[in-house]
Order: sequence, then C-alpha cells, then structure tokens
Amino acid sequence: MKILFKNILESGFSCDFELTVDESHVPGPVRGVISIQRAANDTFYLSGSARYIEENDCNFCLTRFSTEKTVQFSFVYMPLEAMNNNVEENAELAFDDLDVCFYKKEEIDVKGLLREQILLNTNMYPVCRQGCQGLCTVCGTNLNVEKCSCVKLEVDERFSKLKELFKK
Ligand SMILES: [Zn+2]
Ligand SMILES: [Zn+2]
Repeated sequence: MKILFKNILESGFSCDFELTVDESHVPGPVRGVISIQRAANDTFYLSGSARYIEENDCNFCLTRFSTEKTVQFSFVYMPLEAMNNNVEENAELAFDDLDVCFYKKEEIDVKGLLREQILLNTNMYPVCRQGCQGLCTVCGTNLNVEKCSCVKLEVDERFSKLKELFKK
C-alpha cells in the first residue's frame, strides 16, 4: 500500500487500512487508520494507529500466547532538499518534537511504515502471564499445567558454591 504525496489534497487525506505484514509474530491482519495533512513547503504531517495481535513464545514456559496491541504513531515528512537548508531543528520545534523524516521518493510505503512500528513495539521479553512457573529444568514439565515430582538441587548447589567462594 503506497500513498503518493502529490495525491494529498489541501484538505488532507485519511483512510482505513487492513493489511498483513511479513512478520512471523504478527500473522494476522493489521487494521487501523492513517491520516495525512499537507503543510507548507511540501511538508506532510502523518498520524495514525494500528491494531493487531502479536504472538510470542513465553520466555519461561515456551507456550505460544497472543497479545492484542495498539500502536500510535506520528511523523513529519519533509522533502530531502530541506535537510540541507537546516530546517530540521525548526521543524522539530514547530511540530513539537515529532520525528522528522526526509523523503526523496514521492510516496509513503504504508506497509513498510507499519512493519517498522510493529518491530519497535515488539515485546522483547515475552512472558505468558504474571508469575509464570516455567518448565521444570529436570523433566521439562510445564509447571503452569501440572506438577512433577522432580527434586531440584540446582539452587542449593549454586548456593554451596557461593558459600565456598566466601570461605576463601
Ligand atoms: Zn509462560
Ligand atoms: Zn520435573
């Protein structure tokens, strides 16, 4: 999905979208709305939001689980030539610290933009639930689901090694 800058009228542009991004942790559709306003000097102000389901494997118990996500984003697009005229600082002031992008192509790649936003908002340390019990380190049982009878010595061993260290 591409939006051509030249097609954006003075009155602005707004559309709903539904598309898929090629990310394995976001297999379903990404839905949302995007709107673009035209400002002076070929500058455009883009804002939007997207909703999607993110799928992750829990770091502790390895179970796949999904999270509903909503991301909001806004950018200012300025033509590349503006970069050489030192407009960036002024633009950032004018647009209240929004991210300023410089465009050299005459289109916005909406899918690329969404992928970037999704990656920025990806949960880097997914845990399926608060207090996930994880897997038994001995037999691999998912301790959220059932108990096993393994005796875990690991922690004690570590402690005794620590004690030895302190003795020295
Ligand atoms: Zn878990
Ligand atoms: Zn076990």
